[in-house]
Amino acid sequence: MTDTLAPASGTAQDPEIPQERSIVTAIPGPKSQELHERRKAVVPVGVHSALPVYIERAHGAIVVDVDGNRFIDLGGGIGVTTVGHTVDTVVDAAREQLGQVFHTLFTITPYESYVRVAEKLAEHTPGDFAKKTVLVNSGAEAVENGVKIARKHTGRNGVAVLDHAYHGRTNLTMAMNYKAAPYATGFGPFAGDVYRAPNSYPYHDGLTGEQAAARTIGYLEKTVGASDLACLVVEPVQGEGGFIVPADGYLPALQEWCTANGVVFIADEIQSGMARTGAWFASEHFGLVPDLVLSAKGIAGGLPLAGVTGRAEIMDSAQPGGLGGTFGGNPVAAAASVAVFEHIETTGLLAEAARIESTLRPELERLRSKHDIIGDVRGIGAMLAIELVQPGTHEPNPEAVNAISAAAAQRGVIVLTAGTYGNVLRFLPSLAISDELLLDAVGVLDEAFSAL
Ligand SMILES: *Cc1c(COP(=O)(O)O)cnc(C)c1O
Repeated sequence: MTDTLAPASGTAQDPEIPQERSIVTAIPGPKSQELHERRKAVVPVGVHSALPVYIERAHGAIVVDVDGNRFIDLGGGIGVTTVGHTVDTVVDAAREQLGQVFHTLFTITPYESYVRVAEKLAEHTPGDFAKKTVLVNSGAEAVENGVKIARKHTGRNGVAVLDHAYHGRTNLTMAMNYKAAPYATGFGPFAGDVYRAPNSYPYHDGLTGEQAAARTIGYLEKTVGASDLACLVVEPVQGEGGFIVPADGYLPALQEWCTANGVVFIADEIQSGMARTGAWFASEHFGLVPDLVLSAKGIAGGLPLAGVTGRAEIMDSAQPGGLGGTFGGNPVAAAASVAVFEHIETTGLLAEAARIESTLRPELERLRSKHDIIGDVRGIGAMLAIELVQPGTHEPNPEAVNAISAAAAQRGVIVLTAGTYGNVLRFLPSLAISDELLLDAVGVLDEAFSAL
């Protein structure tokens, strides 16, 4: 296989990582097993690792473990390495910033890269109006801040979310998640004033967007009432829930209802955003112009950074000193993020997401026609998934998901699971992945399905 990502100059990239899979030991290999024993002594079991192979290096769409095994990375650390691992310009930007200053705290003495990230987010999030951004450290922290700002702006308390939603692991976001286990079990008491409404899940509910929206809105009007709602938080394509793409017209109807009722419409684009679906933000596919957009995961190529971006008048409702945090918008993460934006802007990466879909989706459909436990193929761009069911039904089949992902790992393909019932395999490859690697990975999955 050709190395489509071979660097020209080799400054920051690692030319020694061929873009092909290669398994040279048992999985996990002996060095990984040794590290895993050490880890068990000092890391709590609550921090679970889906695949205990310990990674040493990575480049493009390939990760290399401590035993020298090369895996095709279809997970990207949950959609974080969208531009690819160790992209030259991103590494250079972070490295240059490291040599200048690591930290000052933007709320004490600010620096330019924070401002540049805010400018980039204002430019690339949907909507042609004045926008402002606060930078924080994690997706959950972005959700928390989005809710704070919406509450301050509206003077209301209620937070509406949807079935199958995932928003994080902090106290407020645990209350906003659909799934209690494992995220919230035993960790209460939880934040109050969170209301969860039915979503649109075409494969299961068979509803049109209009019908599903009427159900969601009717539920919220009955159980809380629009006048008590500060915000509605939605993932345009639900991530952990299983890459659920809502029916046409569903999200615009929700946004319209929010606007008519003074409810801040917040798009949690932490997983679906930043080029993943072939648009800067997935909201664009649905014609949405959210009041606030939450971003994290892919915005800094793997360094921890997250943001709340939104209408200036809403963002400015928080009082001076009300927003911030010690590490929020760290200079190195911000410098890397600017480089990620520029990389997407200058290399036509959005089109790569469409290319990935046009390669992968027909292959997944082919697998579906061949293997009757694949019930649904869905997603947008480089955010695709298959839902596994008991043959002839829509009943979840999490056992098959676990067996397939384990078999794929043995053969050098990292594929992540998702779904409220653990019965979804999701694909979030780097946009730099070649068609050749995608087809190779599909071949591995096909064999794993056949071997079930
Ligand atoms: C991952 C995720 C979060 C939480 O982000 P963290 O950085 O893990 O706190 C929130 N919302 C969505 C949609 C996510 O995918």
